[in-house]
Parts: sequence; structure tokens; C-alpha cells
Amino acid sequence: MTPEFNLIHQFFTRPTTQTDLSIGDDAALVSVANGMQLAISTDMLVAGTHFFADCAPYQLGWKSLAVNISDMAAMGAQPKWATLAIALPNIDTHWLSQFSDGFFACASQHNVDLIGGDTTRGPLTISVQIMGEVPISKAIKRSGAQPNDDIWVSGELGNAALGLAYLQNTLAHNLLNADDLALCLQALHAPSPRSALGLSLRGIATSCIDISDGLLADLGHILNASNCGATLGLAAIPCINFLKSSLENPTIQDCILAGGDDYELCFTAPKSARESLTKISAQLNCPLTLIGEICIGTDLNVTYQNKKVNVSKKGFDHFS
Ligand code: ADP
Ligand code: MG
Repeated sequence: MTPEFNLIHQFFTRPTTQTDLSIGDDAALVSVANGMQLAISTDMLVAGTHFFADCAPYQLGWKSLAVNISDMAAMGAQPKWATLAIALPNIDTHWLSQFSDGFFACASQHNVDLIGGDTTRGPLTISVQIMGEVPISKAIKRSGAQPNDDIWVSGELGNAALGLAYLQNTLAHNLLNADDLALCLQALHAPSPRSALGLSLRGIATSCIDISDGLLADLGHILNASNCGATLGLAAIPCINFLKSSLENPTIQDCILAGGDDYELCFTAPKSARESLTKISAQLNCPLTLIGEICIGTDLNVTYQNKKVNVSKKGFDHFS
């Protein structure tokens, strides 16, 4: 076997459970169940842009799949298959084995088969494509929000941004207690995609997006696609007490409103869905919080103590 093939065999080939032909041929083969559509999405992680080049490889492997599963969740699709294209500056077997363990830990938790990919030498870059199934015409798109719909988010926002602020030394180091710090670093390095929630939102949510670039930026995509505006209450947004206790601080506001990488779901639903959503939240043990309302127009207004909040950052944009 050539070194490249050996590497693929050693680190990226594991048994599959829902694939007709997996790694080893020119293409993989899968069967999409009757009545289902294939949902497809790709996310690329580049060293120095999306992660620190020296970050822990296990967490990087986990995150590179988790962010893709999050896209499936936001569509209401069941993730099933993934491909992995990876450029490596050199072959470091310890790094690769940790990376692959992290990737497959996330894959087995969400029942995703790794069915192919590409391996080349180059600056560390990871590109994962994910494929999943959703019943025909049941995918939750960005374009379905309606005036008067409630706006909901899962989990807590701002933790990943706070973890990043800590690592970049923009936050005084003694401010966060050890438990909060662990939570924030976990959110940043090993996010838990809301797969089960996404599936439960089929037929209930009118629109949905996962928060990867910040609440305002991502909710903004829903508003653009749906041709609507929104009002949000800053104090209603779920976040840890550390953030809650300084809501007037612009840096804290940025963490909550513009901090990326949380991979929570933001979705809209009619007011008649409140009871169902409360049940789903309890069943899945997944906090869901009502943070605002969709309105006519195109403005996105955030209020705090009856005043409009001027947001300094709108969220992450690679080309701004
Ligand atoms: P080809 O030259 O036909 O593109 P490759 O030698 O690149 O084939 O890959 C051989 C097999 O290994 C293919 O099935 C491909 O999908 C798979 N593969 C290559 N790199 C990876 C990877 N990083 N992860 C998973 N599968 C991979
Ligand atoms: Mg190839």
C-alpha cells in the first residue's frame, strides 16, 4: 500500500452501518429512502482562521464534523453520511490518530458514516461534506418566517465567544470562574450540535438557522430570506450569569449578539406552537427560550430596558 492509502486505511476507515459502498473505490454509494430528499452541506475549517493551528487535534476532529451536523439540524435533516477532505502540512501519526478519534466520536454519537474523502499535503485545512435525509418538502428553510411568529433559541448564547475572548486575552483572566471557563472552552472547541431538536422542529418551526456567525448575523439571514423584520429583547437572550450580570457592557453585548461558534439553533414558530415547544424542550432536555418576535418591515431591533441597543458588531463575516 502507498503511504497515502495506508494513512486513509489506518485513520479514516471504520465500519459503516448505512452505506452500500464506502471508502476504497472511486466513489461511495448510498441509497436514499423512499419519500426522502438528500440534504447536502459543506463546511471548511482553515488553520489560523477557524482554529489555532496548535489546538488539540481530538477537539478539532470533533468540531469539524459537529459544525456540519449542526447544518443538518438547522434543516430538520437526519445526518447520515460524510466525506472528509483534509490537507496536512506533514504526516504526524499521533496528531492523526487523535483527530480521527475525535471525528469518529462525533460520528458515532450522531450515527454518521464517513464514506470517502481526499487527503493531500498542504496548509492544514479540513473540509467536511455532510449528507442527510429529510422527508420531501419538509426541510426547514430560512425563508418561512412570518410576521408575529415567535423567535426562539436553544441553549445559551455567547459561551464560545467568551471562551475565545479568554484565549485571545481580551478578557481579564481572573473574571471567569473555573466552571464557567470550562463550559466556555467546551462550547468553543467541542460544540454539541442540536440534531435531535432540529428533527423535532419539522412541521413546527417556520424557519431555522444554526448560529455559527452570531445571533444578529444569522437571524439576519432568516429575515432577508423571509422578507421580515424582528424585535429582540436583550435581557431575554439565554446566557450564563457572568454575561447576564453585565448586559450594559458593549463587549458582553457583542458576545451575546455577535459571538459566533455557539451552534445553537435560532428558529421561528407561530404562537400556537408554544405548548408543543415547551414539551419538546422537556423531552429533549434542551432549553428553548423565546427571545423576540418577527414583524413587518426589514429592521432588526434589539431593546434593553425599553431602549434601543446600538450594536457595535453585527457578527462574523470573512470578507468584511
Ligand atoms: P482517487 O484517486 O480515486 O480520488 P484516493 O486515493 O484519493 O482516490 O482515495 C482512495 C479512497 O479513500 C477513496 O474511496 C476516497 O474517498 C477515500 N479517502 C481519501 N482520503 C480520505 C479521507 N481523508 N477520509 C476518508 N476517506 C478518504
Ligand atoms: Mg482523491
